[in-house]
Amino acid sequence: MRVYNLNGRRDNKYKARIKILVHETGTEELTRQVETEWLALKNSDLKLPQTDVDAIDSYFRPPHLPQRPEGWSALAAARKADHSFAAWVDQNVTPHKNPDYGVVTISLKPIGGIPGDATDAQMDLVADIAEQFSQDEIRVSHEQNLILPHVAIADLRIVYDLLLTDGLATANAGLITDIIACPGLDYCALATARSIPVAQRISERFASAERQADIGELKLKISGCINACGHHHVGHIGILGVEKKGEELYQISLGGSGDEVCTIGDITGRGFSSEDIVDAIETIVDRYLEIRTDKEETFLATYRRLGAAPFKDALYSEAANAA
Ligand code: SF4
Repeated sequence: MRVYNLNGRRDNKYKARIKILVHETGTEELTRQVETEWLALKNSDLKLPQTDVDAIDSYFRPPHLPQRPEGWSALAAARKADHSFAAWVDQNVTPHKNPDYGVVTISLKPIGGIPGDATDAQMDLVADIAEQFSQDEIRVSHEQNLILPHVAIADLRIVYDLLLTDGLATANAGLITDIIACPGLDYCALATARSIPVAQRISERFASAERQADIGELKLKISGCINACGHHHVGHIGILGVEKKGEELYQISLGGSGDEVCTIGDITGRGFSSEDIVDAIETIVDRYLEIRTDKEETFLATYRRLGAAPFKDALYSEAANAA
């Protein structure tokens, strides 16, 4: 931050990004500056006193979670009785450190909806659920969803039923309709293309729950300009909206990932018009389904195994045939 504050372009909102500074300074020189600054600071008075560290530590101490082992048998019965509930548990509930609890993702990605949007009534509902069933905690994820971090397995059914009352129980966390989209041209003054309507049309195209489950984990991210607020560069499939000769054009990148093995996606080639972008995404997905070794091999794993060639082949030969 100190190096950025000294040399970054805070004077120009179009250039006030650390990536601009990296680009203009060069990675090696910037690394040298950061290391020099760090060595000078490391043992200086700016070091946080231990009492402050302890205070922060106690403030963020994990809550006391009573044991609730009875939940597992109730969960098994509820899953058996309701296929939709079982699908939601499989997709939107992840393990907690405490085996009697789960971490619930509330998807803000209903089919055809605006990614990440919630009404005031939905927010009130989530606040009430968090108060009653998740130690009064809600987290907002960078994936534009809400997280209830400590829900007892015994309470999952009731939480699901409450979420269902206001359209908040979409079972698509991590699937192709769980799209990250920035505000784009609909709201953002910096945008060069729309993001939200593209996300909505892709979501509608892949609406079938069975089809989404078959495709499995697939992170699709859309940005409406090069600033990349939608993280398209680390999407398994990334879409970047640009403007060319007054038209919105969508560039696709593949194989990006923002997880522990971080990779920047590869640009496939020329972009697609707003009219053609949804077909192009479907072409990529269909090719993946043809070439994966089996259902266990995710889109990203297939891409890492085979690279861009089969996808480019499908995309551009199909486009050429259509022309
Ligand atoms: S990426 Fe999206 S939200 Fe970010 S500046 Fe560009 S259009 Fe705006």
